[in-house]
Amino acid sequence: GSQRVDREVASVCPFCGVGCLVTYKVRDGKLVAVDGRDGPANGSRLCVKGRFGFDYAHHPHRLTKPLIRKSGVAKDGNVRRDPARWSEVFREASWDEALDFAAGKLRTLRDGHGPKALAGFGSAKGTNEEAYLFQKLVRTGFGSNNVDHCTRLCHASSVAALLEGVGSGAVSNQVNDIQHSELIIVIGSNPTSNHPVAATWMKNAARTGTKIVVADPRATEISRHAWRTLQFKADSDVALLNAMIHTIIQEGLANEEFIAQRASNYEALREGVARFSPEAMEGVCGIPAATIREVARAFATARSAMILWGMGVSQHVHGTDNARCLIALCAVAGQIGKPGSGLHPLRGQNNVQGASDAGLIPMMFPNYQRVDNHDAHAWFEQFWGTRLDAQPGYTVVEIMHKALAPQGDPHKVRGMYIAGENPAMSDPDLNHARAALAALEHLVVQDIFMTETAWLADVVLPATAWPEKTGTVTNTDRMLQLGRRAIAAPGEAKPDLWLIQQMARRMGLAWNYPGPDAGVAAVYEEMRQAQHAAIGGISWERLEREGSVTYPCLGEDDPGQPIVFVDRFPTPDGRVKLVPAGLVPADEQTDAAFPFVLITGRQLEHWHTGSMTRRSAVLDAIEPVATACLCGADIEALGLAPGQPIRVRSRRGEVELQVRRDDGTAPGSVFIPFAYAEAAANLLTNAALDPFGKIPEFKYCAVAIEGV
Ligand code: SF4
Repeated sequence: GSQRVDREVASVCPFCGVGCLVTYKVRDGKLVAVDGRDGPANGSRLCVKGRFGFDYAHHPHRLTKPLIRKSGVAKDGNVRRDPARWSEVFREASWDEALDFAAGKLRTLRDGHGPKALAGFGSAKGTNEEAYLFQKLVRTGFGSNNVDHCTRLCHASSVAALLEGVGSGAVSNQVNDIQHSELIIVIGSNPTSNHPVAATWMKNAARTGTKIVVADPRATEISRHAWRTLQFKADSDVALLNAMIHTIIQEGLANEEFIAQRASNYEALREGVARFSPEAMEGVCGIPAATIREVARAFATARSAMILWGMGVSQHVHGTDNARCLIALCAVAGQIGKPGSGLHPLRGQNNVQGASDAGLIPMMFPNYQRVDNHDAHAWFEQFWGTRLDAQPGYTVVEIMHKALAPQGDPHKVRGMYIAGENPAMSDPDLNHARAALAALEHLVVQDIFMTETAWLADVVLPATAWPEKTGTVTNTDRMLQLGRRAIAAPGEAKPDLWLIQQMARRMGLAWNYPGPDAGVAAVYEEMRQAQHAAIGGISWERLEREGSVTYPCLGEDDPGQPIVFVDRFPTPDGRVKLVPAGLVPADEQTDAAFPFVLITGRQLEHWHTGSMTRRSAVLDAIEPVATACLCGADIEALGLAPGQPIRVRSRRGEVELQVRRDDGTAPGSVFIPFAYAEAAANLLTNAALDPFGKIPEFKYCAVAIEGV
């Protein structure tokens, strides 16, 4: 009958960083349903993506054979999604031919131009084991630290501020700890869409008395549950946050004991915020001084208060400064190191925390050991038995610039291996990024669909979707969780972990990870040694037994530490460092020709570049077309009507989409989700970078809007 299920397999949702545990239901070798499992992050809850976003795995557009670009076919951005038309550009190849060609040409480029001629992007959607092996391949096989992934587009600035301020890039307290908070601030985050199950815990907490303060240039659904909503002017985060810190200090509400014992650099912070009174800042951020003072008082005097934030904070040229302010706000109020308090940057991708922990970043080895730190460098040279580059590599956007560098540049990037990322959709200023990818002499792309990036490749390696593999992922709460293979990969598609090892061997590395599922347990155990200080107490057997373990976890009997920084911070002096921030304007300002501020982001039904959710029938049926949200007053002033097609232009590109009325979008601004290939928001966005986190300014650029 239609309800028959052959097998049920325990796994993890592949979409967001909340990390809901799921049960895959399999019939005749196909996924037929997904149920929520009682995990520590979700308590059996799922959102619409987790429940209905699984049929992409069986989509007819899956890559099932290795492909090699036909000689002489130009690299244009005009992707043919229908597999019947791929033969216009690619020919099918055997695995041996494809892998020999993929790795052989990278090797030739490395030997001819040096290690810096190569770069690799791994993925925050792969497993920890894949992330670990991928960065090891780049560092030990390519020979440089030119390895990065989409954390650079997400929380790189938050992590830069956190490493500087508290000595660790991960969250201090878990989402569900908000049940112990008297107040939470949710800033630059739209959790109902982007972390939906986390949002349910927020709503539950509000029902039992937790005050929610929402601070965001857009009023989103969570505002309906808020005690106060601060709809501040886009780009004025530092003005608002400094005014709150100013209030706490000026009104004698600072936690002097905490500051004396556990903070450093307080004098500099106090001087830094002296001129940021709420009265001086209300015109800058658009929030009345009395409201700023009221919220600051409530935060400082709460028994426990937590700050949760998203990309609205991080994706600015002053993203690191924004996060520095959040750290200082928590610290001056003593709201950290206890239940219901602390700092929680909500992670986007399901494994962006784990991929970063595993060292998929250009300046750090696994567990945030800096490549230019003498001791760390020596340890990893010994551990991996090879010489390593001691110079930090280039980041995502920098690598794109280096691909377009002149021939004489000794660091020109000529060859890339991209596994599971889609920079031709996710990078800012896509016309530039796509030109950079097309300019590479050799591009190897490993993925499950013909993404916009794969379309520009010389070799395409068909890989496995999440339900087709076994491995671990780490959620926003520092929970290391095990996903298990539920179904077989289609056609000749191969496990990513196997592919990375095949590439490594052909680059001359003598790797051998025996065991089932491409040696995933052996890879995990090696990774555990490299990250001993965080996950030393979590063996593969323990993961198989418990399914989810929180780190830091140092021994087999350690239950894991859900709250960190209780006694000391992992900084050199054990204290939280307070770093004052000044006002830095957005890189690009509006003017008469481009009068609107563009804010990009996500919506509930579609995930990032849309390659999975737009191929999930239910999700795509709910949100099938690209839209741009404007408030009613702006729609009227432009002489438009909801549903009408419009053109949005920036100095870098233009897209056509439908206008949607959303009165939570502030006058003078427009919100566009970036999941739609046919109207890619990132054709418009600005590639200007935060100098510390090297994150681009996705959350602010100038555009013009007109009816078509
Ligand atoms: Fe998946 Fe996130 Fe939804 Fe949970 S909240 S079901 S992890 S997308």
